[in-house]
Amino acid sequence: MSQKINGVKGMNDLLPGELGGDMAPVEVWQHVERTTRELFARFGYGEIRTPMVEDTALFVRSVGEETDIVGKEMYTFEDKGGRSLSLRPEGTAPAVRAFIEHSVANQEPLTRWYYIGPMFRYERMKTGRYRQFFQIGAEAIGSREAAQDVELMDMVVQLLEALGLKEVSLNLNSLGDDACRPAYHQKLVEYLTAHREELCGDCQRRLETNPMRVLDCKNEKCQAVVQAAPNILQFLCEPCKAHFDEVKRKLDALGVKYVVNPKIVRGLDYYTRTTFEFIAAHPALGTASTVGGGGRYDKLLKGLGGPDLPAVGFGLGLDRLTLLLKESGQKFSTPPDVFIAVADEGSGDAAFALASKLRREGLKVEFDTRGGSLKSQMKRADKTKARYTLVLGQAERESGKGQLKRMADGQQFPVALSEIVQTVRSAPPA
Ligand code: ATP
Ligand code: MG
Repeated sequence: MSQKINGVKGMNDLLPGELGGDMAPVEVWQHVERTTRELFARFGYGEIRTPMVEDTALFVRSVGEETDIVGKEMYTFEDKGGRSLSLRPEGTAPAVRAFIEHSVANQEPLTRWYYIGPMFRYERMKTGRYRQFFQIGAEAIGSREAAQDVELMDMVVQLLEALGLKEVSLNLNSLGDDACRPAYHQKLVEYLTAHREELCGDCQRRLETNPMRVLDCKNEKCQAVVQAAPNILQFLCEPCKAHFDEVKRKLDALGVKYVVNPKIVRGLDYYTRTTFEFIAAHPALGTASTVGGGGRYDKLLKGLGGPDLPAVGFGLGLDRLTLLLKESGQKFSTPPDVFIAVADEGSGDAAFALASKLRREGLKVEFDTRGGSLKSQMKRADKTKARYTLVLGQAERESGKGQLKRMADGQQFPVALSEIVQTVRSAPPA
């Protein structure tokens, strides 16, 4: 016997129907993706598809060497030409790389893009935390106005609404900029240094490399220390404060609810001013309760060798969205309209052709290609939950007429074989 080979740990198979185990069925994924594409197009965002692999330096320079993502979680390898490549851990840096590479700024001064695709991080797994996961992200490049930040948040809010996900709250913060953050930084370091012994090992290290990230640590001891830490919002300079006030005013004007949370710092180096997270209250996600987050990154483009343009974006965890939707109990798979069964051997070709024709005309049709007895075909019809069954035999072929049997209650509807589509479409549900 040959040895069985399993999929890679932390990377999930997404399967249709109820086969997918802990993951949401693929129909739920398709529903979220469809809803996203349709909604984001209404906001004027165009889709981009960048490669899953990039030059390692792209992430080192944008996400930041000291971040968990680059420091610990990246899948990095050398290709046969000796280049250091990495599976993308996030979508903003690749989008910005593409923007710069294609000189998009020259053609489109206000660029709004979205993407949907797999990301890779070597993380400790649990529910809602995987090594291959999917993000829906959007980036708006070219506007420094608060309206742009708010447009993006509104887009997420409308997506959550369209998906019927209610218990998700928007947490809002500002990280200031080069003018005001250094003073905050210094006060924070003083405070954390005084509490150094109470911090986890990671945070003692973060205190040296990037102290703001301590605010984001999930360790309970660190969270206790952080409770009384200096508040970034009290350090904002005038322009940053004005921007933040304008973001809040515009959210209010749209009726978007939010809570101001000065602990939202995000795990990446490139953020300035606005940052936000969407946090779910639902227990299904356990500690993986952040369904997404984003913020402004006004310095990233220049830092990657591009034009000096402001930008803002977000990333949503598609795995987590689908888990929430699965929990909500909504159903997204549609049953077949008709099951075509073969009554006798001589009718196989005609039934097969009828199934093909009905599909061409727009019906969802099931046909058992294995053949077999009428009884076994009817069992199959039940299993597929087809709404109607039509048995095709010599009599039906000769008369051009048959019976559509409604599976829910067994009632029969006489039908001309040439009018099945109309009859199925107009027949009342049982
Ligand atoms: P977390 O705090 O949960 O680790 P993060 O801050 O690392 O999240 P981001 O880099 O902001 O996550 O990515 C945006 C979103 O992508 C997250 O809010 C989450 O929904 C999703 N996400 C991130 N990492 C994973 C993962 N390993 N598995 C599944 N989803 C993920
Ligand atoms: Mg993380």
